[in-house]
Amino acid sequence: MDLGIEGKWALVCAASKGLGKGCAAALAREGVHVVITARGAEVLEATAAELRAFGRGEVRTVAGDITTEAGRSAALAACPQIDILVNNAGGPPPGDFRQWGREEWIKAIDANMLTPIELMKATVDAMAERGFGRVVNITSGAVKAPIDVLGLSNGARSGLTGFVAGLARSRIAASGVTINGLLPGVFDTDRVRTMAATTAQRDGRSVEAIIDARKRGVPAQRLGTADEFGAICAFLCSLHAGYITGQNLLADGGAYPGTF
Ligand code: NAD
Repeated sequence: MDLGIEGKWALVCAASKGLGKGCAAALAREGVHVVITARGAEVLEATAAELRAFGRGEVRTVAGDITTEAGRSAALAACPQIDILVNNAGGPPPGDFRQWGREEWIKAIDANMLTPIELMKATVDAMAERGFGRVVNITSGAVKAPIDVLGLSNGARSGLTGFVAGLARSRIAASGVTINGLLPGVFDTDRVRTMAATTAQRDGRSVEAIIDARKRGVPAQRLGTADEFGAICAFLCSLHAGYITGQNLLADGGAYPGTF
């Protein structure tokens, strides 16, 4: 299927690895010009080289922390215009809320709620003026089914989701701008493997044993891949998805147990 977005410009945040990279790759394969960001320049440049090898659109890089004002300004300045915005950043650490103070909460809210809101503020009105815009916020299955040790994530991402529910249905909806949440379950990325390594060390088990247990907890009996996550994101950004807005789409191999 031709997604109808060749030649559009996309800003994909936190995209040198994992789910962000999957989204950037899927868009780049469609001929979208992509600006990708990450904190470390080396891995970012290697990812950019992979995307350029598709031989489709332009690929630009911005090394910087997207959760800072400077990082966001640099990312925005690198795009001639933004037709597609994929919001992403590292997730907050696990823990017990009794150990978190104001600093931990502000950091999580900054990264996983206020950063995407700032980037939408900087882009959606211009999208509406041009009559086309797509925003995909990478959040988490924890928005629908909270994970006890990820309270910072549950809280910050739910705040974003509540805000977006209103913004997506505001006047920009009549101007071709859609905003949706894409909610990953368990995907095979560095983050998941790093968390598995921590659990493995704590419990004296192998990383593969931890990963296998996670697979068994998913009806699909496997972890998702960044490529399949990227393909869903690209569809939400496509011309064909113009009537989907304000939704929160789970990609979790059936892990969420509810009917709706
Ligand atoms: P990952 O660690 O594999 O990749 C994260 C990417 O983001 C890297 O490219 C990293 O350089 C970049 N990054 C991190 N913080 C950044 C910052 N402040 N500024 C710029 N770039 C930054 O992680 P992932 O598994 O792809 O997860 C992406 C997001 O999805 C995270 O917020 C994570 O919590 C969430 N999530 C992931 C899963 C999963 O199964 N992988 C499940 C639920 C939620």
